Amino acid sequence: MTTTPEIGAPGFTEPRLPLLLLGAGTDPDSERGVDCPGELPPASDPELVERARAAKAALGEQVFVLGHHYQRDEVIQFADVTGDSFKLAQQAAARPQAPYVVFCGVHFMAESADILTADHQQVVLPDLAAGCSMADMATFDQVEECWEVLEDMGVADDVVPVTYMNSSADIKAFVGRHGGVVCTSSNARRALDWAYSKGSKVLFLPDQHLGRNTAVLEMGFALEDCVVYNPHRPDGGLTPQQFRDARMLLWRGHCSVHGRFTKQSVDDMREQVPDVNILVHPECRHEVVVEADYIGSTEYIIRTLAEAPAGSSWAVGTELNLVRRLANRHPDKNIMFLDRTVCFCSTMNRIDLPHLVWSLEALARGEVVNRIRVDEETAHYARVALDQMLALP
Ligand code: SF4
Repeated sequence: MTTTPEIGAPGFTEPRLPLLLLGAGTDPDSERGVDCPGELPPASDPELVERARAAKAALGEQVFVLGHHYQRDEVIQFADVTGDSFKLAQQAAARPQAPYVVFCGVHFMAESADILTADHQQVVLPDLAAGCSMADMATFDQVEECWEVLEDMGVADDVVPVTYMNSSADIKAFVGRHGGVVCTSSNARRALDWAYSKGSKVLFLPDQHLGRNTAVLEMGFALEDCVVYNPHRPDGGLTPQQFRDARMLLWRGHCSVHGRFTKQSVDDMREQVPDVNILVHPECRHEVVVEADYIGSTEYIIRTLAEAPAGSSWAVGTELNLVRRLANRHPDKNIMFLDRTVCFCSTMNRIDLPHLVWSLEALARGEVVNRIRVDEETAHYARVALDQMLALP
């Protein structure tokens, strides 16, 4: 008989959701891997670009296509607006006359778009398998259970929850219900200042690195002020004393793309290119961020490279589609990827040209496919937390 090792015992591995092949396979218990309810054009079809153009032209003002910076070039060329998750959330409501919003990004972004757009607008995600591994690391049940632990430890009244934009709508709603706020990588400091004016502790979801980097590097916290709550261990793996002493309770989540960069990647790069500037996203590990010269959101990275002098060298720690695009956009600068290994966001990459063509052609026929819809109550409380973010000083 096979027995499963106890949590934390030798041989224990955290449960992982099965990896589903690009655009194929189904996991009916989550939004991932759901097959297209129709016929997907083959990727080898030489007419794909022309078909996407024709479908978009036929839809005209009826469709508004949003494209995240990490999307493939073959997809981003059809975006009416490009941006990071915050900019796209703001832009989602910018064209209320368009009944269809096609979101080329991942699931949590399409949810935010559904929350922020008008009732008559329908949000479409070309491939429902485009989730986000970081957002999946904090489920509603786990976060509810964490809050019960905080209540049992007698600290819940001191805690203000803050969630990164990269979280599901029900986590945002949880935060809204408990008087917290959503943040992005551009406004995390302001969100935390606001949260600490309301309580003495913060529960930061789901990206431990953004929470730690902001608290330590921007707010002067000590590393010991931050503890990591592990949802796979009893009481998060923390002692009652740790709950009492901590100022920052970090959820044990991370981005699988930005989490790949290491201090070694920085050291190797500095050795190869001595005058290199290291520019990284704050979702990178603390050991990487402390070694970097510049740290900031996707929009900050784009701006910094645009303003950099000709001839300067840059190693960039973020998603590869974006780094390649920026290198092509600025041929007068030496722009490199920080790591030696290929580092695409595999879930972002699920939105490819066949899925975009398939969804646009369906909309052109009047058929709405892969609609992302957030129920009214969840949308209401998620909007409370999003509005709180938009009202940050
Ligand atoms: S880059 Fe990271 S945080 Fe962004 S969608 Fe991909 S897995 Fe999620």
